[in-house]
Amino acid sequence: MHSSCSPRDCDRKKYCVLSLQTVLAARELRWKNKKLLAESLAQKFPGHRLALAFCTLRMPASLRISNLYKEIVVQLRDVLAGALMDGAIQILDYGQEEYEDGPSAWLASDCDERILKRMAIAIEEGHALGSLVDIDVTDAKARLISRRDMGYAPRKCLVCDDEAAVCSAGQRHSLSEIEAHIEAIISDSMGQEAWDSHDGHKERD
Ligand SMILES: [Zn+2]
Repeated sequence: MHSSCSPRDCDRKKYCVLSLQTVLAARELRWKNKKLLAESLAQKFPGHRLALAFCTLRMPASLRISNLYKEIVVQLRDVLAGALMDGAIQILDYGQEEYEDGPSAWLASDCDERILKRMAIAIEEGHALGSLVDIDVTDAKARLISRRDMGYAPRKCLVCDDEAAVCSAGQRHSLSEIEAHIEAIISDSMGQEAWDSHDGHKERD
């Protein structure tokens, strides 16, 4: 049990590895950084329609911070970059960060945020590793575009076919069960040549 959790919390929270304060502080920092990034990019690229995408791991915190899966956020961010390039949409900037609750990789593109969100959803649903990430999309003012805004159904659980939010709130699956599904998704993806590499797209960081 973590010192910051009450016994009741820990009884319910099977995956508790970070204190609530750590998770909240990391979330707050990520949100602040999104705002700062959007502001600085708007100054750096005046006259461009700015849309931002942030790719993070969609799994319990202990797995997010395990270092086992951190490359996936960069790989999927690069798949999104490839889709933008295929659509002749300019990528203005990109980068990656490490937070206390897990890794994040982002890009900024010169297009309507709804177009970027549609591409992000296509990757979340169509790529072999898409179910392992969340790709949040914001407009130039760091306002989040939700799936619901776009008329899409909520995301499915990694383990069963129910809504992810329902399983996550009810802590329905054990950590080992989730981990086994993640490993199966990764090993399936190996056979599918899921990695989309893009000539000329050089990793900066
Ligand atoms: Zn489930």
